[in-house]
Amino acid sequence: MKRNHLIKPTLGQHYPTISHGIGVYLYDTDGNPYIDGSSGAVTASIGHGVSEVVEAMTEQAGKISFAYRSHFTSDAAEALAKKLSDLAPGDLNWSFFVNSGSEATETAMKIAIQHWQEKGFERKNRIISRWTSYHGITMGALSMSGHVPRRKRFVPLLEDFPTIPAPYCYRCPYNVEAASCQLQCANELETAIQRIGSENVAAFIAEPIIGASAGAVTPPLGYYPRIKEICERYDILFIADEVMTGMGRTGKMFAMEHWGVIPDIIALGKGMSAGYTPMAATMISDRVMEPILTGSKSIMAGHTYSANPLSAAISLEVLTYLERNELVLAAKEKGDYLLQKLQMLARQFEIIGDVRGKGLLLGLEFVSNRASKRPFEQQSGITSRLVTKAFEKGLLIYPASGAIEGIAGDAVIVSPPLVITKEEIGRLVEILGASLEELQQELY
Ligand code: PLP
Repeated sequence: MKRNHLIKPTLGQHYPTISHGIGVYLYDTDGNPYIDGSSGAVTASIGHGVSEVVEAMTEQAGKISFAYRSHFTSDAAEALAKKLSDLAPGDLNWSFFVNSGSEATETAMKIAIQHWQEKGFERKNRIISRWTSYHGITMGALSMSGHVPRRKRFVPLLEDFPTIPAPYCYRCPYNVEAASCQLQCANELETAIQRIGSENVAAFIAEPIIGASAGAVTPPLGYYPRIKEICERYDILFIADEVMTGMGRTGKMFAMEHWGVIPDIIALGKGMSAGYTPMAATMISDRVMEPILTGSKSIMAGHTYSANPLSAAISLEVLTYLERNELVLAAKEKGDYLLQKLQMLARQFEIIGDVRGKGLLLGLEFVSNRASKRPFEQQSGITSRLVTKAFEKGLLIYPASGAIEGIAGDAVIVSPPLVITKEEIGRLVEILGASLEELQQELY
């Protein structure tokens, strides 16, 4: 078969052809096994080839796969929305289904703006985000993202969103040590709101743990409570982009639970369907919905495939599987174990500057000098070299390079499926260690 019609991530590069997957392992058509150490793009949280999901998929497809949301609702979509509402904290009782994380964050932005419009605050329409962030690849979501490599080509077309620095303790934007941290990065939100005028700001959006742009950067303890307090004081909605962190990945169903903070809007994707189908959601609180319910009664967003019964049934089974097998708890336990192993690698390899993250969303940042934390030169291509070496040895890890400090830097995410066993973690770490060994030898 001719293979030059499909546009792949890097044109001209050879990609093995996937054959099938079982648990944490993927197999190509030549029979080579790969440990899915990143769950793809932090997605395949319940592992591959789960027969219960395949059965749910087949059963729903046998009844109806697609019916347009303007014509029908479905038992599957209703049940999924109910399930999410049961799982979510506080009064996050409403779900709007979309097909990708980018759509979920863009919809979150639109709903925040609409909320204020319906209350008569037409000018309250700016969204504050953080530099060093990733909210998606579509123009609106990319406008909110502080991710230089992904923005670069499109900057003139992107909306100019106000940003504040990220809570990036390893490279504290204020050069403050943990012991004397006054959460200046969170207070910066107040400064930004005052500068723009709260009458012009609809919402603040943040990833609970920063993923694609920096590799599992986790904020200091008091950060989100302070953020929420500022949002409340100035009547600004708080949107948590839990596309990567949601559905158990970090050892809590929603990562924001680690800090006891309940957002007004949550964007979900990835783990929501664990990759078994494109499915994402924007969850909305009663408070945010109220003026819409009593006003226009219609959210001005939606896609042809929104809430399609097939994807909804699949996602529902994924979440049921997650609960039945107590995988949120597993993420915490296995995550703690993997973290220890990664910290051991850090003692062994000088180029590891930082190990971080929560549950099974862990990150490694690489530096050319540990004491000064100096990043490698961009042209050294450390991240891609490491990712390639691991790939060749049968381990998949996720590159999160090029965005650290908005310009350069090297990091990877290690985020295997939540079903991973301790033995499989051992094998993952062994391959990662061998790849690091090879890379370090090339460098020094
Ligand atoms: N938000 C976050 C936090 C993400 O990590 C991603 C993807 O990596 C997105 C949004 C975009 O999701 P998608 O690639 O499904 O559009």
